Amino acid sequence: MSNVRVRFAPSPTGPLHIGGARSALFNWLYARRNNGSFIVRIEDTDLERSSRASEENILAALRWLGLDWDEGVEVGGENGPYRQTERLQLYNEYLQVLLKNGDAYYCYCTEEELAAEREALLASGEIRYSGKCRDLSGDERCRLESEGRKPVVRFRVPEEKTITVDDLVRGQVSFDCSGIGDFIIMKSDGIPTYNFAVTVDDYSMGITHVIRAEEHLSNTPRQILIYRALGWNVPRFAHVSLILGKDRTKMSKRHGATSIEQYQSQGYLPEALVNFLALLGWSPGGEEEVFTLEDLKGQFSLDRVAKSPAVFDLEKLNWLNGYYIRNSSLDRITELAIPFLREARYITGEVSEETFQWLKKVMAAVRERIESFSELPQHVDIFFSEMLDYDDAAQEILRQEQVPIVFNFLRDKLSALEDLEESSVKKVLRALSKELGLGGKKVYMPLRVALTGRTHGPELYQVIPILGKELTAARLAHALQF
Ligand code: GLU
Repeated sequence: MSNVRVRFAPSPTGPLHIGGARSALFNWLYARRNNGSFIVRIEDTDLERSSRASEENILAALRWLGLDWDEGVEVGGENGPYRQTERLQLYNEYLQVLLKNGDAYYCYCTEEELAAEREALLASGEIRYSGKCRDLSGDERCRLESEGRKPVVRFRVPEEKTITVDDLVRGQVSFDCSGIGDFIIMKSDGIPTYNFAVTVDDYSMGITHVIRAEEHLSNTPRQILIYRALGWNVPRFAHVSLILGKDRTKMSKRHGATSIEQYQSQGYLPEALVNFLALLGWSPGGEEEVFTLEDLKGQFSLDRVAKSPAVFDLEKLNWLNGYYIRNSSLDRITELAIPFLREARYITGEVSEETFQWLKKVMAAVRERIESFSELPQHVDIFFSEMLDYDDAAQEILRQEQVPIVFNFLRDKLSALEDLEESSVKKVLRALSKELGLGGKKVYMPLRVALTGRTHGPELYQVIPILGKELTAARLAHALQF
């Protein structure tokens, strides 16, 4: 293992979203590419909004995407525990160091006082905390505490002009310190704030590269100040740009599903999503768009991560999903299809080996035509109903004069076959047009309509073996009534 150590640090306040999944993927790829370690840490300091259910959900989504971790919740490791609420003692230790060195101080201002202060300051165009409690004496603190006030701890922002983040994606980004007021690092209930906990954790877990969403760039100078105050090396940062919808506004529910589990339940394949997420901000240069996790592992680099926002293009995801559906093994595609067929009530109960083999034929016939499994029912319904309805256009076709001859001819030919295999059916179909001396359209269109109720669909040589002799004959007979 190299010394590269990266982490994904989700807050378990909801499902894993597209943006979080992309951060996880980029970290994972960076670790794998550099033979480093990938760590999963849970940032659950927002006690009200965090839940174990969300945590489990997020972890399940990571696993589904194929992103495994070397250290972290559930797998353990030398730098645990990996949930922030289980690390409170550690934060407190470093808090004491900051307090002792004068880099942090207790602040007794109440919410109301702060709100009033903000209002007054706003008038003068300033919005940062005034620093009122910066230099309280011991006596003053005792007095405030005797009033029953519970203090927070604030970080004392030094009188420094600028902090520059040397970002691996964004380059040098400078922040004016005068805009950063003394910020809270520990709340009155003893729970650290994000900026403090994340810094202590990234340091104590030996994180070398912090790869995360751009929304945290503005937090980075605060974190750098804490690193410096504690005399710690600052890791490298890489802030990955926003994800926008096609209309160039921030990606939201309006643009489509935002959580990974929604895509999973809509019948997307994990490899399609991984491929798609990788291209949200990263590109290898060149025209190629299909990348497996294995390919990505060999090619990913931070210097090919774009500064400009990534645009979420659902059509591209659908195209990729269709690609992976066409190119996965038929066994796997069939396995994956079963829950969707159950949901549509096309199958109930256990799937026997015989049924599975039959379902494979169904999937072989339709897999070229779908981009996600949720589209499956509308393509396979023809195989699961006994008799079909024929609309006016279909009936028109069935009334063509050659139809009875064609249908009877096919029925006789098929009944002479021992088994209906694609190859033998293909031969029969070819012979049909030849022996009857009829053009393809006059033969195959009425047959297609009779057997599927539609003018478009899977190949007839696939349809007929799936339906079997009896149902094929029954549908032909039924269609002849028009
Ligand atoms: N818990 C933070 C989040 O979910 C992680 C931020 C970071 O990676 O530093 O946004």
